Amino acid sequence: MSSLLKLSLDHVLSGLQSKAFSATELTQSYLDQIDRTSEHNAYITVTKERALQDAKRSDERLANGTAGVLEGVPIAVKDAYCTKNIRTTAASKILHNFIPPYESHVTQKVSDAGAVLLGKTNLDEFCMGSTTTPIHTGATQNPWNPSCTTGGSSGGSAAAIANGSALLALGTDTGGSVRQPAAFCGVVGVKPSYGRCSRWGVVAYASSLDTPGPFARSVKDSALLLNVMAGYDAKDATSLNLPVPDFTRHIGQSLVGKKIGIPKEWYENSQMDPEIMDLWKKGQELFEKNGCEIVHVSLPYSSYALPCYYILACAEAASNLQRYDGVKYGFRAENIENLEDMYFQTRGQGFGPEVKRRILLGTYVLSHGYYDAYYNKAQKVRAMIQHDFRQVFQQVDVVLTPTTPTPAFALGAAASDPVAMYWNDVLTVPVNVGNVCAISVPAGLSNTGLPLGLQLIAPSLAEDRLFQFGHIIESSTSMPDLPF
Ligand code: GLN
Repeated sequence: MSSLLKLSLDHVLSGLQSKAFSATELTQSYLDQIDRTSEHNAYITVTKERALQDAKRSDERLANGTAGVLEGVPIAVKDAYCTKNIRTTAASKILHNFIPPYESHVTQKVSDAGAVLLGKTNLDEFCMGSTTTPIHTGATQNPWNPSCTTGGSSGGSAAAIANGSALLALGTDTGGSVRQPAAFCGVVGVKPSYGRCSRWGVVAYASSLDTPGPFARSVKDSALLLNVMAGYDAKDATSLNLPVPDFTRHIGQSLVGKKIGIPKEWYENSQMDPEIMDLWKKGQELFEKNGCEIVHVSLPYSSYALPCYYILACAEAASNLQRYDGVKYGFRAENIENLEDMYFQTRGQGFGPEVKRRILLGTYVLSHGYYDAYYNKAQKVRAMIQHDFRQVFQQVDVVLTPTTPTPAFALGAAASDPVAMYWNDVLTVPVNVGNVCAISVPAGLSNTGLPLGLQLIAPSLAEDRLFQFGHIIESSTSMPDLPF
């Protein structure tokens, strides 16, 4: 294995600048590592030729002094971002042959900054799930223990960072899909504020919640990647037209006198794994040692966040997925009798069981007679959850929780019980529904040697706090090296 794979982002950038190695050599090392770790199934599509072309372009720009901020840095992209002329499947049979004629805003920005695209990573079909076990493209294995799940839905991107087959990666977080796999794979994952990064060209799941987010080995690297991903895009009506600060600006600054909120309703949740409760207590002690004050706060409506999320997300998914009708793009069933049969057969054969379940649930909650009882009610609950967070952030700077209620579970364990899988999102979905931002930082190991993550939550647009406070967790925890 090449020693280049061990280099942090800072060292990669300085090594490329000083010509200690070339972008082409670095890219080749990562492509070799993708081959070496192929049994983890982190990637759906490896874009070898494109990566080597990108690397050549980077070497030219490095030589002529026009290098971008991520020039030559190898990156993996969740296969939910449309990439021009590169197959984009969302891990679904219904998009198995879809080659977008356009590039997503975020991948365009990352590419303009000089990053080298290694490939498209595996995910739960259409980002629906917490296990990265899509029927069409197969399960991704956790590099720490291949019999365990990576979490999901962005499990391929998290696994690629953990097994050394990418230095940076892109995911999307609708209810925890960056943070939960980051926690299970021992890497850093961020759910930025809604609207910070454009959704244009990202395969839609639940549009009012979908948030592009970065994965990296360290807190600072994730901030540097977010610096590039974030920014206004006129093509996304919900994109925030605001200046993007340097998200690294507060890293390393003192936290003396800062206040850390612990939501008492979550703390009293008896279903939490005891080793996760220990991790949470250690997290509180760590911030106290750094001069912070622990404040017990209340988020009463957040206990409804999970059912509220699954109503809203399924409703939006049912609406968004109407476009896959076999007419415009993607898979079309054969041996059909008429137009209606074509729709039935195409959608029946093209979608996997979890996607079908959500379309059915979503159609139900939006249907005449049930709309007020479910969808409208959920929108009201969402407003109350957002109100709770606004109150809490008048008292504290950040909220600290674990990222997940358990460590990574065995692959297949959630297969027969979808509600058990939904429950794994109990600590992440309140963030999306509550319209706030959050980070997951590796903070310890389970008794069986699996990584565990702590989650920090900050008000919308206060991502720089996530990195400032997250850096303290990172620098006070001795995590073993990533398993490669
Ligand atoms: N696990 C959650 C779901 O299945 C979150 C997924 C996501 O964030 N994309 O909806």
